[in-house]
This record gives sequence, C-alpha cells and structure tokens, in this order.
Amino acid sequence: MFVERPIFLLKWYYKGAVWRPHAEKKTIYLTFDDGPVPDNTLNILDILDRYNVKATFFCVGENVMKFPDLFQEILRRGHAVGNHTFNHIKGFDVSTRYYMNNIRKAERYIPSKLVRPPYGRIKPSQFKALKRDGYTVVFWDVITRDYNRFLSPKQVMRIIHWYSRSGSIVVFHDSLKARKNTLAVLPEAIEYYQRKGYQFGVLSEENAKNKS
Ligand SMILES: [Zn+2]
Repeated sequence: MFVERPIFLLKWYYKGAVWRPHAEKKTIYLTFDDGPVPDNTLNILDILDRYNVKATFFCVGENVMKFPDLFQEILRRGHAVGNHTFNHIKGFDVSTRYYMNNIRKAERYIPSKLVRPPYGRIKPSQFKALKRDGYTVVFWDVITRDYNRFLSPKQVMRIIHWYSRSGSIVVFHDSLKARKNTLAVLPEAIEYYQRKGYQFGVLSEENAKNKS
C-alpha cells in the first residue's frame, strides 16, 4: 500500500520515475487526478485563479473525450496536463500491451508525455515500456487522501502539514468522490504554502526530470 509518503523501496523499484523534482526555490507542485468532471473541475480552476496558482492536471482520457470544453478550460487558464490512462486502469490487472494501448488512446486526447499511473500501480514491464516509448512517469511526494470519505478536511490538512517540503508533488483529485474535501481544503492549503514561502510550479518533461 502507498502511504502518504512513498517508501524508499518503491523509489528504487521504479527507477527513473519522478517523485520530488529538485527546485532552486521552495516549490510545491499541486496536481489533480481523475478529471475533468463537471461540478468539480471548474470549482478547482476558480480557486486556483483566485490565488493565481498554476497546477498540473492528470486527466482520464475518457473524461476528456466526454468533456472537451472542460479540458480546454484547464489549458486556457494556463495549467499543465498529464495522462492518467484512458479509463483509469490499474496496471496490475492488465497486460503491458493493453496498458500501452490504453495510454496511447488517452494521448489522442491529452497532448502530454507525462504519465501518472492510476493507484500508483504498474508492473515493472509496463514501467519499462513507458520509459522506452519516451514517457515520463510521475508519482508523488505527498498524497493528501482527499478522496477518503472517512477523513475530514481537517485531517487532510494535517497530512499536508506533516509531509509537505520543497519539491513536493502533492496529489489532490478533481473527482466527485473527493469533492467535499478538496474544495474545503484547497484554499487553506494554498494559503498555508504561501505563508511558508513556497512558490507553485507546474510539471513539465524538463523539470520533472530534475531529481532531488
Ligand atoms: Zn486516479
């Protein structure tokens, strides 16, 4: 299981993946998985705009196909995007060929070589195939667990306080499941990071590869 912070062994296992890019200045990389979805993504975009913060959205291809205008809105507002497979598949459940076809199918809708595997689960063969085909696999440094309905916004905030550090890639979700927590926590989290002197960065193929 992935805990709030990935264990060292996983970093060794998925060598070459991105967990926490090196940053010259104190930087936080906010990321949002599973969208775009109506009734959530726009709210998140509005919060980010209010604070003038840019983030990276790891989108599900199927959602982009269904809601192209929402996806365009993410780009129009200056955020970065990444591939979160076509229909949120778990690598452990499928063959490498199937996985790669699913990634390529999503890429038709999401112009990005950054890939975040759903659930953080991929087989070594899938990880290798992604690297071979020029993709950059992005995991995270802090998982907020905003999707966990048993956690209150206060508990999610506590995870953010405990684990965030410079270079942290922080995972939120713009899914309906996470809506209650994400919308409550996001303004507070941004204000917390700003008070601590962090700037916000977006992920790109170049900066993702700067290891810390
Ligand atoms: Zn996901």
